Amino acid sequence: QQALINEYMEKEAVTPDGVRVDIELNLASVSEQSLEGAKCTDGVGLFRTEFLYMGRDTLPTEEEQFEIYREVLTKFGDRPVTLRTLDIGGDKKLDCLNLPHEENPFLGNRALRLCFERPDIFRTQLRAAFRASVYGNLWIMFPMVASMDDIRRAKQFVAEVKEELTGEGIAFSPDVKLGIMIEIPSIALLADFAAKEVDFASIGTNDLCQYTMAVDRLNPAVSEYYQSYNPALFRLIHIAAKSFIDNGKSVCVCGELGGDRLGAAVLMGLGVRKLSMSISSVAQTRKLVNELEMKKAVEIAAKVLTLSTAQEVEQYLSEALKDIL
Ligand code: PEP
Ligand code: MG
Repeated sequence: QQALINEYMEKEAVTPDGVRVDIELNLASVSEQSLEGAKCTDGVGLFRTEFLYMGRDTLPTEEEQFEIYREVLTKFGDRPVTLRTLDIGGDKKLDCLNLPHEENPFLGNRALRLCFERPDIFRTQLRAAFRASVYGNLWIMFPMVASMDDIRRAKQFVAEVKEELTGEGIAFSPDVKLGIMIEIPSIALLADFAAKEVDFASIGTNDLCQYTMAVDRLNPAVSEYYQSYNPALFRLIHIAAKSFIDNGKSVCVCGELGGDRLGAAVLMGLGVRKLSMSISSVAQTRKLVNELEMKKAVEIAAKVLTLSTAQEVEQYLSEALKDIL
């Protein structure tokens, strides 16, 4: 394990046939330890901002958020920092918001939906993010996008916030990229349209699996039905990734599958060139990329799309990758 870290943690992820894959970091706090990941990653592919709102009685102020976003952006310099706007609800609860009980919170008023209902919260976060944008390479992405309406509404908020800041004479970068998380099947299937309206996509395989398989990702009673290798999931990822690639837009995978040894191979073969993961998966993924020819990854992905069960996929991948895992 230590040998793996020593050899691969900071090694550029390039396949033997010369294709580079960006290995980015999933960040969920700004502790000194988590920011250590800045040393060995190509950026932040997923900056979960929920921690700012959790375990407290009041909402974080614009100033407070600005300071933290600035810190992370500064730390990563030219490398992208992909800030995900508030993704609360479902599995993620907040003390500072008295949210009503819902029978089906994962299908309820969560994430972007909640931000639309509480423009004060959404605007405060966007203002803080845009103000911080001058300190680095900021990408902003919206979670739980289900429709084109969601995209247009979110972009409208951004336009208003930018106009407001301009009116106040407050500087922000003109290069901030806007993107969406693809974690609901409906938007994966409409990704060709979505790709024309945003700069990038990041595929959240944790929720995409939950919503595709109709399995609560937290309920142990049904965990056997949460099949990350189900070919249906790979077909959706294929559709979404292809749409963004065909439109010349960046696509990342920031769910667990991106840092999974078998999963990452398929994602590479489907054209994904950015994988974002927790720090614990970085070394093994850099090793995988360095040992897997892209030509082989493409073959592997094509084969997976012809299989019919999760078990077949897992068996096939274990066999196909046995020499390099
Ligand atoms: C996902 O859904 O895959 C994802 C990356 O977001 P989260 O796990 O925070 O819901
Ligand atoms: Mg998610």
